[in-house]
Amino acid sequence: MRLVTEAPFAPPARLLLGPGPSNVDQRVLAAQARPVIGHLDPEFLKLMDGVKAMLRSVFRTSNDFALPISGTGSAGMEAAFVNFLAPGDRVVVGVNGVFGTRMTEVAYKYGAQVERVVKPWGRVFDPSDFGPALDRGPVRLLAVVHAETSTGACQPIEGLAALAHDHGALLLVDTVTSLGGVPVDTDGWGADIVYSGTQKCLSVPPGLAPLTLSARALAALKVRAAAGPLFPGVVPPPSNPNSIQSWYLDLTQLARYWGTDRVYHHTAPISALYGLHEGLRIVLEEGLEARWQRHARNSAALWAGLGALGLKPWAEEGHRLASLNAVTVPDGVDEAAVRKALLVEHGIEIGGGLGELKGLIWRVGLMGHSSRLENVVRLIEALAKVLSGRMKLPDPTRALAAAEAAGR
Ligand code: PLP
Repeated sequence: MRLVTEAPFAPPARLLLGPGPSNVDQRVLAAQARPVIGHLDPEFLKLMDGVKAMLRSVFRTSNDFALPISGTGSAGMEAAFVNFLAPGDRVVVGVNGVFGTRMTEVAYKYGAQVERVVKPWGRVFDPSDFGPALDRGPVRLLAVVHAETSTGACQPIEGLAALAHDHGALLLVDTVTSLGGVPVDTDGWGADIVYSGTQKCLSVPPGLAPLTLSARALAALKVRAAAGPLFPGVVPPPSNPNSIQSWYLDLTQLARYWGTDRVYHHTAPISALYGLHEGLRIVLEEGLEARWQRHARNSAALWAGLGALGLKPWAEEGHRLASLNAVTVPDGVDEAAVRKALLVEHGIEIGGGLGELKGLIWRVGLMGHSSRLENVVRLIEALAKVLSGRMKLPDPTRALAAAEAAGR
């Protein structure tokens, strides 16, 4: 057989202003290039402790349990559901976009009874929207997406924990597109299960999913774990429906490696964790509040520029994400052709609509390292050029001036 080899891969220069990943700081790339050491090396264990401590700060929590799952944001989502749901359990999920929909798929796969509470894509829920579904019977989880990447809407979380707890449920929140860019306040919210991803506002390459659990969630996990293989080698009877239905994502096992026991579970993705460590250092050096303000300011600059070009936001007013800006595609414009021209002619990636918003919106991410005024200006300039042949446009110099003024 002929052996096939390839030339080294040289990624093109890209400005990543899509729904993720965002551009990665050189410091993070350099950290990931450092020599690999063992996953039980005492020096590596120190790095793990540092990651946990910094994750607590970024999640704004004093929860003991905070660690990165090995896998992308979807692994965080799956871990959040599989550890708390047994077949037949009821879960109430807010569905107003692709990622709420994905949550329902994950819960179905694990045999849960799923109550979907639905809103048009781009709108957000009021706590009272969940009342009837919660009242219909015992419920294990109330699950919502904080930052709906598919619509650009930011779901207020206030009031949801009390509602969930009054119904004996835990509050589960997806913060994949908010953590490190938009205020996330795990303890202030009273949220029980909160997960995220590294490749958005943390600006660390995709591959890890930070996750934190409240004391209430930990207590529920202990009950769940008691029914399953708490110790290696102990196999639960196949009929035991209550055991955690994932080996890889079993948080009780992961806690033993990330806690004081240091028991081997799976080989930690060493280089990815070096990257997360450095990425979290960068976030905390800047400071959470300063970072949230930077994201808000650059989003305002983007909208000032887009507005001057006559473009309109998609998501509900007052609930728009600074990290993911959903732009309504003007009538008659081929949205995919615009994205292609931005990428090929200007080296800028933005996203298109997903699911029912396919063809209707562009998704402009201003996340982490990518959220900069110069990037906003570069995008407005390029977009004006690309759109100028396709629709009647106001004077683009006004759009640039508006963006610059709003972003200062
Ligand atoms: N949740 C939200 C809100 C997301 O935006 C994404 C990805 O875009 C995910 C979950 C899944 O993350 P990943 O694609 O990293 O698996």
